[in-house]
Amino acid sequence: MTELDIKTLQALDAAHHLHPFNDNAALAKKGTRILTRGEGCYVWDALGNKLLDAFAGLWCVNVGYGRKELGAVAAKQMTELAYYNSFFQCTTGPTVRLAAKLAELTPGDLNHAFFTNSGSEANDTILRMVRHFWAVQDQPQKKIVIGRHNGYHGSTVAGASLGGMKGMHAQGGLPIPDIVHIDPPFWFADGGDLSPEEYGLVAARRLEAKILELGPDKVAAFIGEPIMGAIGVYIPPHSYWPEIERICRKYDVLLIADEVICGFGRTGEWFAGQYFGFQADIMPIAKGLSSGYIPIGAVMFNDRVAKVLAEQGGELAHGYTYSGHPVCAAVALENIRILEDEKIVERCKTDTGPYLAKRWQELADHPLVGESRIAGMVGALELVPKKSERKFFDERGKVGVMCRDFALKRGLILRATYDSMLLSPPLIISFDQIDELADKTRGALDDTAKELG
Ligand code: PLP
Repeated sequence: MTELDIKTLQALDAAHHLHPFNDNAALAKKGTRILTRGEGCYVWDALGNKLLDAFAGLWCVNVGYGRKELGAVAAKQMTELAYYNSFFQCTTGPTVRLAAKLAELTPGDLNHAFFTNSGSEANDTILRMVRHFWAVQDQPQKKIVIGRHNGYHGSTVAGASLGGMKGMHAQGGLPIPDIVHIDPPFWFADGGDLSPEEYGLVAARRLEAKILELGPDKVAAFIGEPIMGAIGVYIPPHSYWPEIERICRKYDVLLIADEVICGFGRTGEWFAGQYFGFQADIMPIAKGLSSGYIPIGAVMFNDRVAKVLAEQGGELAHGYTYSGHPVCAAVALENIRILEDEKIVERCKTDTGPYLAKRWQELADHPLVGESRIAGMVGALELVPKKSERKFFDERGKVGVMCRDFALKRGLILRATYDSMLLSPPLIISFDQIDELADKTRGALDDTAKELG
């Protein structure tokens, strides 16, 4: 692309395109970065810069860029049958095959799939599903869903309400009624003198306190990301999720594990429930389901929920034109085939994953880093003003953005949330690329420390 082409696109972008999660006025002045190509773990921008994408797009390109098999499958399905819906007692072969494959792949008895276009839509679906589940069992008052402050479950009205992002709630009068939040498990900021494992139990028992405060007969479900991604990759202690599961079982509260980021290998297990040792009743998935090649999400739900919906639920008054889209389903199936055939999840657990963890943990010795955390191939570095204290910068986010921009100058895409530098590379990353990633991250940390003086 010539510089003139880029300038023209940037002007059109500023005039006509509202970017998600962006200060659009600032972006219009600066000019958007235009990406043109991707191969493996790298993307290229319109200026020809080659960038190592340590964020896999948006936590999603698990099998890496440029997989011709996925394009070929999409083209074949589009030519054969580009579209048909699953309304009106119809469906398509890829749709059904994907539902069956997901039933096989997901843990426990999550044997049933409802298809969506995204993680947000999956969570919207879930809100209606869990309330309907209790209502048809003569418990219409059991409708409160408990989420966590700073959780992220998407951008639709229900998704953003289930999430606990204050900035999102402020736009549009959210959360909608009967959704409440408890504090998340973040030992670094909140654990005090407790060991992480002790703290995990304390943090989980906030759920029990909230259920008792509201009344167990009013609480339909609890929703949480196994690892809280968007807020800064908060990896809970291993004591947290089993205790959450115990509490949900005790009070008959449905347990929803939002695996939109963690699903399909990110933690070195197919699903993070397996990593932490707990079993969800309902599980939204998206992102890694198609490695981001095509929009598709799903709600996986267990036999108990399915039985009630089937036997007592009546006609399901819910669905999307593109629920179970055959092209998306075919691509997702092929993506899962690649993950399986190339043993990508296993590599993440026993091969490249441990090496990435080692290199990432070594960065904890940097003067700017207060904590290095990682599970499989998702992690963060917490940048702090004083290494000896578990405290944030007064002006949160400035240093993180600085470090992110220095990384970019070195040809590395990292994401910053406040001053957490987030890591989520394609799962196919090689040993050499892990070295490149770690070295460039250290370089960006050095640049940042120098700039801070
Ligand atoms: N849930 C989690 C945990 C997410 O991280 C996201 C997106 O980042 C979503 C849901 C929403 O998914 P989507 O952006 O596909 O709507």
